[in-house]
Amino acid sequence: MKTRGNAMATIAFIGLGNMGAPMMRNLMKAGHTVLAFDLSEAACAAARDAGATIATGPGAAAGEAEVVVTMLPAGKHVREVYTAPDGIIAKAKPGSLFIDSSTVDVDSARAVAAAAEAAGHAMIDAPVSGGVGGAEAATLTFMVGGSDTAFRRAEPILSAMGKAIVHTGGPGNGQAAKICNNMILGISMLGVSEAFALAEKLGLESQKLFDVASKSSGQCWSLTSYCPVPGPVPTSPANRDYQPGFAAALMLKDLKLAVEAGQSTGSPLPLGGEAAQMYALFCNAGFGGKDFSGIVNLLRGKP
Ligand code: NAD
Repeated sequence: MKTRGNAMATIAFIGLGNMGAPMMRNLMKAGHTVLAFDLSEAACAAARDAGATIATGPGAAAGEAEVVVTMLPAGKHVREVYTAPDGIIAKAKPGSLFIDSSTVDVDSARAVAAAAEAAGHAMIDAPVSGGVGGAEAATLTFMVGGSDTAFRRAEPILSAMGKAIVHTGGPGNGQAAKICNNMILGISMLGVSEAFALAEKLGLESQKLFDVASKSSGQCWSLTSYCPVPGPVPTSPANRDYQPGFAAALMLKDLKLAVEAGQSTGSPLPLGGEAAQMYALFCNAGFGGKDFSGIVNLLRGKP
């Protein structure tokens, strides 16, 4: 059962893009009432067709709801939507619960959570992995930062949109978990891609490298679940001309957030920084819309 017996809520949902729209639909499927808002008229029209009521702005939606979910592009949008004079924090009913599922910088997540708490609201940062497919199928993984109480209140709402829900600590720690995980992914994909590019020059077949490395110490998710060359893993994007999957532009966004967090905490990230540069090169060459594993072709000199 998805909603663990809690009463249905009136939920304000702000940001109805590729991820937000299907997440919002899953909340409605679970029986919640949704007041929706997006700057895009087309996104609002689609939400209306799906059964949501459209509000005149984020603050207006929040003022009529008990719970607010946001799914916005980046930290500056989240700060604006929450902390503007007529924004969510100012207009929400006392004691509301805010769930920000956008991927944003840790500093913005912590600043907005502190402002929400100071105004008497509860807030969690709950970024996701699982992409648009996971949003549609309600199988997202949520990484949640916030107090125990806020986490417990949010869990039934999140379970209508996702499958795995992990409480990763206090405010901002959901974002911290997300960018650390994706930095591992970006770096490991580059490592695997370099190995396949080198193997090619050495006359070693991709399948043979895979057969050895997948059973040796080179084994990792980027190799065995998401192999960047066609053949060894039939479900990987390499077998469909690198259609995402997880677009290189989103990987670059997450690596930049990791680099920014490294700078603000004084953590050296030599490989994370290099990975960000490599993905910037790939995106600037016009491949931001391709799956991030397509970077293997940049290394092969055949993008
Ligand atoms: P998107 O660009 O498709 O949607 C964002 C929506 O926010 C747009 O419809 C836009 O009009 C709206 N918006 C922007 N500013 C607004 C404002 N002030 N008020 C109301 N609406 C506003 O992006 P997306 O792919 O849905 O991603 C949303 C977030 O989820 C991002 O932070 C992204 O990094 C993260 N994410 C995306 C994926 C993915 O596969 N797409 C996967 C994991 C995480």
